[in-house]
Amino acid sequence: MTTYLLQGGRILDPANQRDETADLWLVEGRIATRPTASLQPDEVLDCRGLIVAPGLIDMHVHLREPGREDKETIASGTRAAAAGGFTSVCAIPNTTPVIDSQTGIKFITSRSQTDAVVNVFPYAAVTKGQKGEELTEFGDLLQAGAVGFTDDGRPIMNNQVMRRALEYSVTFDTLILDHCEDLNLAEGGVMREGELATRLGLRGWPSVAESIQVARDAELSEFTGGRIHVMHVSTRASVEIIRQARARGVRISCEVTPHHLALTVEACRTYSTNAKCNPPIGPESDRLALIEGLLDGTIEVIATDHAPHTEMEKDLMFTDAPNGIIGMETAFGVLNTVLVRPGLMTLPDLISRMTANPARLLRIDKGTLSDGADADVALLDPEQVWTVDPERLHSKARNCPWNGQQLVGRPVATFVGGELIYRDGRILDPAR
Ligand SMILES: [Zn+2]
Repeated sequence: MTTYLLQGGRILDPANQRDETADLWLVEGRIATRPTASLQPDEVLDCRGLIVAPGLIDMHVHLREPGREDKETIASGTRAAAAGGFTSVCAIPNTTPVIDSQTGIKFITSRSQTDAVVNVFPYAAVTKGQKGEELTEFGDLLQAGAVGFTDDGRPIMNNQVMRRALEYSVTFDTLILDHCEDLNLAEGGVMREGELATRLGLRGWPSVAESIQVARDAELSEFTGGRIHVMHVSTRASVEIIRQARARGVRISCEVTPHHLALTVEACRTYSTNAKCNPPIGPESDRLALIEGLLDGTIEVIATDHAPHTEMEKDLMFTDAPNGIIGMETAFGVLNTVLVRPGLMTLPDLISRMTANPARLLRIDKGTLSDGADADVALLDPEQVWTVDPERLHSKARNCPWNGQQLVGRPVATFVGGELIYRDGRILDPAR
């Protein structure tokens, strides 16, 4: 196996509160911070001007396999991940069929062994068929390799089912991840309710459709002691509910997407279906509240909710097009451009929310550059100016709101288990 010396980069390892210019060695698939004096590298990478970070972790990714391989596959989705500096992704189980059995989890893990270029951690569904009624077999699913449970794509509307799921999760000390949406309040909504939706003649999705479920989840988490994670939080009220619950010790966490941090409801003004997502993007006041929540620690994780769709599907009228945005290849550039460069957030704070924090919530042994850790590493160029070219994305899908836009900051190399799998825009297929 190639021994790499990453020379002279800025090492950012939030798990170890490390931020310094130093060399980093990758030896036998592991991080070596104190290599033996006689060690010779096979390859030296000049990392001056680059960030050397733990490989990014995306805890919310729709890989679409099995069932919708026309949108994305484990092969294409993990290549998009590598191009975005991600070395671990969590696969959402709302596939066809739904991943709600040991067989399903085993399909994802075995297909990942042959097709994936980054680590894939599967979630299992909370309820059978994601119908929101009968709980899946948590013990069996965890044993098969599930890292958490979610019905994402759909909310768990039935309070009793969510109560039982949280109670059950305590037994296994696992995480329940919820897509918070009151289906009655949100019914028919295609963009955030408000003046712009009215003016555009589009049915509104009110912010309370999310926050009422977040409040419900906080209550049930407090009542049962189960760990709940709110996915893609998008409103000021939701952030405030989570902040207050956490302050009184409730085991609630949440994530925010790059698109909710970077865009506002204005992105819908042109009826661009690449701005159509669920939960819909809110006004500037919500965006600022999300940034505030990210800064004060209420929001611990940034996750992309990478949701690929075919061009034919997204070519429909706004009302008819499916919800979702692809985000892994643009995540670092967008966040660096929108948060770091204007001085709203430091790079170490950003990296922690994409490495150490999701690893801690998922209880996976990733997201650090500790001596002996798996050599999952991202080299990020925070100054590189580039234009998002949809034809050069590694995802099968093109539903990206930043197509044609200029971003500052780009991953330049990605290592998984000590193997260089991405460099300067190209996937280097792993030796197998
Ligand atoms: Zn969702």
